[in-house]
Amino acid sequence: MVVRRLSRRDASAVRPSLAIDMPASTNMTSMPKSHAAFARAQQVIPGGVNSPARAFGAVGGEPLFIERAEGAYLYDVDGRQLIDYIGSWGPMILGHAHPQVLEAIRAAAERGTSFGAPTEAESELAEQIVASVDSIEKVRLVNSGTEATMSAIRLARGFTGRDKIIKFAGNYHGHVDSLLVAAGSSAATLSQPDSPGVTAGTVADTIVLEYNDVAGFEAAMREQGDALAAVILEPVVGNMGCVVPTPEFLTAARGLTEKHGALLIFDEVMTGFRVALGGAQSLFGVRPDLTTLGKIVGGGLPVGAYGGRADVMNHILPAGPVFQAGTLSGNPLATAAGNATLKRLRESPPYERLEELGARLEAGLREAAATAGAPFSLVRVGSMMTLFFATEPVHGWRQASRADTAAFGRYFWELIERGVYMPCSQYEALFISAAHTFDDIDATIRAAGEALALVEVAD
Ligand SMILES: *Cc1c(COP(=O)(O)O)cnc(C)c1O
Repeated sequence: MVVRRLSRRDASAVRPSLAIDMPASTNMTSMPKSHAAFARAQQVIPGGVNSPARAFGAVGGEPLFIERAEGAYLYDVDGRQLIDYIGSWGPMILGHAHPQVLEAIRAAAERGTSFGAPTEAESELAEQIVASVDSIEKVRLVNSGTEATMSAIRLARGFTGRDKIIKFAGNYHGHVDSLLVAAGSSAATLSQPDSPGVTAGTVADTIVLEYNDVAGFEAAMREQGDALAAVILEPVVGNMGCVVPTPEFLTAARGLTEKHGALLIFDEVMTGFRVALGGAQSLFGVRPDLTTLGKIVGGGLPVGAYGGRADVMNHILPAGPVFQAGTLSGNPLATAAGNATLKRLRESPPYERLEELGARLEAGLREAAATAGAPFSLVRVGSMMTLFFATEPVHGWRQASRADTAAFGRYFWELIERGVYMPCSQYEALFISAAHTFDDIDATIRAAGEALALVEVAD
């Protein structure tokens, strides 16, 4: 069976399309209920999924349908137990169905599910965010990461009175029209829409640069800096796989935006409360003007947030003139899940243990890949990591785009066969949760060793 790779949620750079054969060991008879569920879904849902990253387009084959999850494990409809390294793409840092989070949701539901009027729980969540993330003085709650970045960009434009923004190839900021953009073939050519339906006009003010390329960044700022509203970036990238910034790159981002009167936006939708309680900005000691959050901040329910300097945030309606609203923003159930999650993270921080689990998995995967003779580049920050099937170190999309994605697809399916659920794309970071045990990690390393021995990697 051959499935064409879906053009997936990162649209910041054109990725090669890809056809992958499912490995012989995997066939539909081993997952009849998922197969039937997918067939049903495809009748009424485009592509059978409500977000393309779930469709397994990048690894071939069909998605597993999930029945329930607990702690570090997913249980699919065919009765398979899987060690989960997706964690709902980031939110489930405490593990699935955490008792304190469930209890908070239950208690909130008893009091009514939505009022369209302010609640004290919203201030509690805002206070927890402000107390955790140094650069955030005021914060607005929204319903997704996409909404957070869209609103932060609008606010930056409204605050500065300028139109242009800079983003970096391989960084994903949600499906905001003006950020669904691919770089032109050279720095001098205009950015191109990266999805049908996005107009050339919408992306005309978006400049796409290569991550970690300080010289290219400086040149663009010399040319466009005074017309620039904002620079938006992932301060640790998760969305081309895990990629770390050089200190020089972040220092340049802070210095150049300040010099030209543009705002620096850190998109910490993935890294916020993940790489540290204070986000990636606390690891690198760089203070952005605005920060976007999502994923963990909702504890598995739909919450996004954007916050930062009070003088900037006070430009949002009704404090200021920049429009932004939401019928379900600050929803009581979502806010309860977020509050319970952040409270738990602050009261018993899992970050040291996550670092130990991450280091153990990193060491095991490195050894397994080396033993199998597979060329690789492994990038990790705490509980986020990616094993790139790449022959060169990955610093940005230029190198990431050359990874052997077919080899990754085989690796993915061999791991499924061994009870391990990795992100279903080479261009996603895996996540470890506080519910994972050292036994889970060791079982994963054993499975990866077997899987890697079966994967043929193109040199
Ligand atoms: C997931 C993600 C988004 C989008 O968040 P959604 O809740 O999926 O809209 C934005 N930015 C980054 C860095 C992300 O990882």
